[in-house]
Amino acid sequence: LIQLAIPLNFIGFVYREIRQGLTDIEHMFDLLDVRAEVVDRPNAKELKIERGAIAFKNVQFAYDPARPILKGISFEVPAGKTVAVVGPSGAGKSTLSRLLYRFYDVQEGSITIDGQDVRDVTQKSLRSVIGMVPQDTVLFNDTIAYNIRYGRVTASDADVEAAAEAAQIADFIRDLPEGFRAMVGERGLKLSGGEKQRVAIARTILKAPPILILDEATSALDTKTEQEIQAALDIVSRNRTTLVIAHRLSTVINADEIIVLKDGVIAERGTHGELIDRGGLYASMWSRQREATQAEEQLKRVRESD
Ligand code: ADP
Ligand code: MG
Repeated sequence: LIQLAIPLNFIGFVYREIRQGLTDIEHMFDLLDVRAEVVDRPNAKELKIERGAIAFKNVQFAYDPARPILKGISFEVPAGKTVAVVGPSGAGKSTLSRLLYRFYDVQEGSITIDGQDVRDVTQKSLRSVIGMVPQDTVLFNDTIAYNIRYGRVTASDADVEAAAEAAQIADFIRDLPEGFRAMVGERGLKLSGGEKQRVAIARTILKAPPILILDEATSALDTKTEQEIQAALDIVSRNRTTLVIAHRLSTVINADEIIVLKDGVIAERGTHGELIDRGGLYASMWSRQREATQAEEQLKRVRESD
């Protein structure tokens, strides 16, 4: 009986500890639909953040060993700077952000923040310094205020409203019959992709993390929404180390460096001007996107004049 009782007790203890420490992370996994594959090392330390410099060194990764996704990626995001990653769909751009957030571990090479390997620090301390605005934000089935306050649970109502303001979503919320108390998520009000993204931005503004990961939505947003989101993102990313998976021309132009990912390697890198002059993959992606934007705007003008 004693033999049985001790382990059960112990399991109960461990379970409670894990529950308390990881509720947030569990929630995040639910939200992002990613499995918790990664565990803390027994001697994992707290991440000590200085200025938030990120370095990817020879990073190799595959979800399925038969199909390598990243085949030796090295780049840095200096503290306070913005690096944009672009490239075809399926190139592994979002995978880079998942590795930095440590949803998965690299198979070769390393990712460090201020010189500390992300595998050597606790996930809790790592994730507390990173704000992630994912490609598809899934909201909790709760009020819109709850969803924003999730970024910093001690935030006052005034802070929540100020964050919503900065994320360009406050007017939209105030127009709702129940305002900030409106229920959202699957069982509440359905928000558009752009609205959900702005809720995620508001949440991140409240969290005010030293490091930001922005995975811009691929779905074409209308020009006005795009400008509003860009304005919100400019506010959050100012003076923060920012890794942005970029689709919007405006983000790319202003980035300190652009990494062009293709077939698991860095095909090109440089500033917008350098890459345009080079006339390679980036330059052709750029002109294609511009043509698409111009065509879209022309179409709108035609529709409006009808
Ligand atoms: P990108 O963001 O550049 O479009 P991703 O990083 O999301 O690309 O994905 C890179 C490749 O890895 C894609 O081919 C994708 O299908 C595959 N992939 C992404 N997530 C998983 C996963 N959880 N399991 C297996 N394969 C995946
Ligand atoms: Mg992606």
